[in-house]
Amino acid sequence: MPYRDSAMTTTPAASSGGDPRTLLITLTGKDRPGVTSSLFASLATDGVDVLDIEQIVLRGRLVLGVLVAAPGEWRALEDRVRRAAAELDMQVEVEKGAGDNPRRPQGRSRVTVLGSPLASQAVAAMAGRVASLGANIDRIERMARYPVTAIELHVSGADPDDLRVALAAEAAAQHVDVAVQPASLVTRGARLVVMDVDSTLVQGEVIEMIAAHAGCEAEVAEVTEQAMRGELDFEESLRRRVSLLAGVDEAVLEQVYLDLVLTPGARTMVRTLKRLGYRFAMVSGGFTQITDRIAVDLGIDFSAANELEVVDGRLTGRVVGQVVDRAGKADALRRFARAAGISEQATVAVGDGANDLDMLAAAGLGIAFNAKPRVREAARTAINVPYLDTIVYLLGISREEVEWADAQAGITTPAPPV
Ligand SMILES: [Mg+2]
Repeated sequence: MPYRDSAMTTTPAASSGGDPRTLLITLTGKDRPGVTSSLFASLATDGVDVLDIEQIVLRGRLVLGVLVAAPGEWRALEDRVRRAAAELDMQVEVEKGAGDNPRRPQGRSRVTVLGSPLASQAVAAMAGRVASLGANIDRIERMARYPVTAIELHVSGADPDDLRVALAAEAAAQHVDVAVQPASLVTRGARLVVMDVDSTLVQGEVIEMIAAHAGCEAEVAEVTEQAMRGELDFEESLRRRVSLLAGVDEAVLEQVYLDLVLTPGARTMVRTLKRLGYRFAMVSGGFTQITDRIAVDLGIDFSAANELEVVDGRLTGRVVGQVVDRAGKADALRRFARAAGISEQATVAVGDGANDLDMLAAAGLGIAFNAKPRVREAARTAINVPYLDTIVYLLGISREEVEWADAQAGITTPAPPV
């Protein structure tokens, strides 16, 4: 049937290109109750089909976009929409065109940017990198304002690995953090989070705390530094440090555990993600005497660490069995993923040291957390703010959702000073 511009029909008329004609209506202005219902009441007279809607409110200002199938009598519809907007004291644009939204190009990523603060020049620089790859930002959403400003960008049209390399370099220059993840279904399901312990899940290094009691803190710290810089084989450095602890009273371990301080946001992260069915593992080059107790406290599902040998209530200066080292940490991640029935692609690893690098590389999302420069450069994703709850933002969960879930459970989300 030939296209008739004046046809009294509610079915979309075909344009010459074959796509049905559509109207894009964009309404902006001060938000008030009833805006959406008034606009749609003006559309309902023609019974037009809705193809797409997007709406946001920023500081009380509403932007509402609606794509509808254009009726033959589209000018009459436009008049009704303009009258409705005038009554609401809002601005409206009605643009006639053809077809639905174009299909988003392949190469889709979810990009999270964390800034403290988030400077406009950082956003400009990051967006510039996206554009220089020929990619497009299809949507931007704020995830949090505390303890950092976090925004999530949906990007299409670039290979996620290329995008990650380009954005990581720019993030370092702009002093913001960025995570680039392929926008696959894997990122939507429950995942396994594998945590390093010393200087990641807890503040400081447990072995140095034990050494402080034994009066050999400086010697141990020196060996730790060498190991973290990757200058010493981890197993060698661990055995050397533990040997310095020979003769220390077992009761010191109790005191060290009581003195431990979790990294800010650790409990919020674990509590929030456990509500979503996430599983947790701790993989540590530290000691079971400490990590087993943290695991019970936080409800961690899997744990791997080294055991300090104790004879007659004193440390012998040896570890029992095989040492959990750099390769052992990556093996533990794979083992725990299998045990949890979660694909390796769906694992998230977090760590700060050189011995975490294999584990970070093995994970679907490997995050260097306030790491040494060498680790930060080698890892694909880095967080340089000392708040573990920022990890939930990378996983697509907003601060608002965290606080709401806590409120439902009758608790106030802890908010230590930033
Ligand atoms: Mg560590």
